[in-house]
Amino acid sequence: MQNTTQRRTSKHRKQEPTAKSRFAMVAVATTAMTTAGAAGATAGATQDADKDIALASENTTILAQGEGANAEGAQGSSNPAAAEGNNAEAPQILEVPQAKPVSDLSQQLDSVLRFAKQRTEADLAARMPDFVKPAEGTFTSGFGPRWGSFHKGIDIANAVGTAIRAVHDGTVIDSGPASGFGNWIRIKHDDGTVTVYGHMATLDVKVGDRVTSGQKIAGMGALGFSTGSHLHFEVHPNGGDAIDPKPWLEERGITL
Ligand SMILES: [Zn+2]
Repeated sequence: MQNTTQRRTSKHRKQEPTAKSRFAMVAVATTAMTTAGAAGATAGATQDADKDIALASENTTILAQGEGANAEGAQGSSNPAAAEGNNAEAPQILEVPQAKPVSDLSQQLDSVLRFAKQRTEADLAARMPDFVKPAEGTFTSGFGPRWGSFHKGIDIANAVGTAIRAVHDGTVIDSGPASGFGNWIRIKHDDGTVTVYGHMATLDVKVGDRVTSGQKIAGMGALGFSTGSHLHFEVHPNGGDAIDPKPWLEERGITL
């Protein structure tokens, strides 16, 4: 009776490290794969796989040695190595066949890496707002005919120095003086849309800068053709003619 209980305990003890060993093996191999991938993503798939399997086999052997020693230390009787009359000196030879199950290793690693990549992308997307309001303030003028000409954007009024923000990720293609605007900033977004910001008192970015959604790019002002401190904001799909920014922003979750 007591023997059975002891054996069970022994079995449990033996199984635990086995599961851990497998996990550790995959984890170690994953690191190796990542390093190999960074070093040469275009390297032959077969070569990489060979390298990984070789490394995994090595690892299994090392862990198997530890496992054998543990089991023997605990009880000894259920350890196949001990059953065949071997001591701690030899178990590494007997454990070599355990390298076989890693034949689907690259598949396992693919799914692990794919999951890690998806999770990273989801984290980034969750943390970064996609589109933001170009400035806080009072909506004072819309897109359309005005004062005998055509107002090609919208106006948002607030105090001098109020933060002007990039509405979306993009690259600065203009930052400096411009006729009528006093100062202007133009940002080209990755889909080709160009957003224009005018009348600013201060500029925080220069041509060629990469900006992210919500980044402060300037301080509000009243330079150029302006009756008071406000932001003039335009949207040009594909860099072409201006469209009404209000519905464009609303479609992207921004209400003025
Ligand atoms: Zn305006």
